[in-house]
Amino acid sequence: MTTDLAKFAEDNGVKYFMISFTDLFGGQRAKLVPARAIAGMQEDGAGFAGFATWLDLTPAHPDMLAVPDPDAVIILPWNREIAWVPADCVMEGEPVDQAPRNVLRKLIAEAAEEGMHVKTGIEAEFFLLTPAGDQISDSFDTAEKPCYDQQAFMRRLDVIREISDHMLELGWNPYQNDHEDANGQWEMNWDYDDALKTADKHSFFKFMAKCVAEKHGYRATFMPKPVEGLTGNGCHAHISVWDAPGADAKTNVFAMEPNDSSQTAELGLSEKGRHFLGGIMKHASALAAITNPTVNSYKRINAPRTMSGATWAPNSVTWTGNNRTHMVRVPGPGRFELRLPDGAANPYLLQAVIIAAGLSGVRSQADPGKRHDIDMYADGHKVRGAPKLPLNMLDALREYDKDKGLKAAMGEEFSAAFLKMKHQEWDSYVSHFSRWEKENTLDI
Ligand code: ADP
Ligand code: MG
Ligand code: MG
Ligand code: MG
Ligand code: MG
Repeated sequence: MTTDLAKFAEDNGVKYFMISFTDLFGGQRAKLVPARAIAGMQEDGAGFAGFATWLDLTPAHPDMLAVPDPDAVIILPWNREIAWVPADCVMEGEPVDQAPRNVLRKLIAEAAEEGMHVKTGIEAEFFLLTPAGDQISDSFDTAEKPCYDQQAFMRRLDVIREISDHMLELGWNPYQNDHEDANGQWEMNWDYDDALKTADKHSFFKFMAKCVAEKHGYRATFMPKPVEGLTGNGCHAHISVWDAPGADAKTNVFAMEPNDSSQTAELGLSEKGRHFLGGIMKHASALAAITNPTVNSYKRINAPRTMSGATWAPNSVTWTGNNRTHMVRVPGPGRFELRLPDGAANPYLLQAVIIAAGLSGVRSQADPGKRHDIDMYADGHKVRGAPKLPLNMLDALREYDKDKGLKAAMGEEFSAAFLKMKHQEWDSYVSHFSRWEKENTLDI
């Protein structure tokens, strides 16, 4: 039964709703709506001028309405009189095709028609910086190998514990938190869920981490490579497909079938899992435009060794078993991990592009190709025939533009809007004057 938000407010002492939608650049946009007005907004949506956000709309377009998804409502654990509710964008009674949450919903419905219900878990790494964002917040956090640093953890316990407490309260089943591989970097893990639920939680997690960090006088950033020379912020996605959504899921369709003697079966991945993985491999260079969507994203992948000794990010399109030097890792039976995405990935488009590529793989019975059980950082040059990932955002956008199948699967309207906005962003980037140019070409 659909949640009645007015009643929800009454029952829970909620005074305001933050009706929120996500634009093409991953920006979360919201209106704060008093509980007295929520009944009407639940029906009709909250009005926005779409042009004022990154959705490729013009000032002449009619109002865009953000219609809250009442079953996805979350009371802010740090401010219980406010509830956040993700919304779907509608214009003149029709879904706005390029709005990320709509793109994802459409792909989830398509997969469901074929009996496939995708469940994913993501690892949204982040840094805690000073408020201006120019330094790591903890000046003592300088170890060469800072991963799991117990003492540095204690110096930021207040922030991490608070976020973890919030996830416990929300029933997300958080299960571990650690200091990650870069100075100032953190990772907090909670259980996987249906793709739309994970996308909403991913959005909310970013919002929550930023709010709690700010409260303590720090700044949380998910930027892919915020500090030169240190490991960047990944956003690995773990993927499995089930026979039904939510709690009705009984069978993991990716779990190995008896009598399958293929390479993936050795690792516990079924034929369907293999084809889904085949789709990810086939579309990898193009989907990077979505999983690694910013200029800075390409400073994380293809990067030189970091101070800790490894970037933990991939360089080429390869897969393997339980080995973290490849683009895809199969850590155990019934799932695989895509290690390509970074902290800039739009939570909805990330899930959408995984489903789009995976579905294409299942439909075409794509083969993921040979497995390479090697250390890619040491021996990657020996691998023949594995495509290199795009070296920069422009290459990635061009790869996406060339991949007609993926563009169509994501939706033609979405793909056109995304490419247009992103090319504008690239043009803005290349037209800015950098210090590097003066330092290297002044005397030419
Ligand atoms: P690692 O750092 O080893 O890659 P983490 O424990 O940080 O792994 O994150 C693993 C993520 O994978 C979690 O979100 C977890 O819930 C999720 N996960 C585990 N099993 C599955 C599965 N069958 N399908 C999808 N996600 C899964
Ligand atoms: Mg106004
Ligand atoms: Mg992890
Ligand atoms: Mg990690
Ligand atoms: Mg991982």
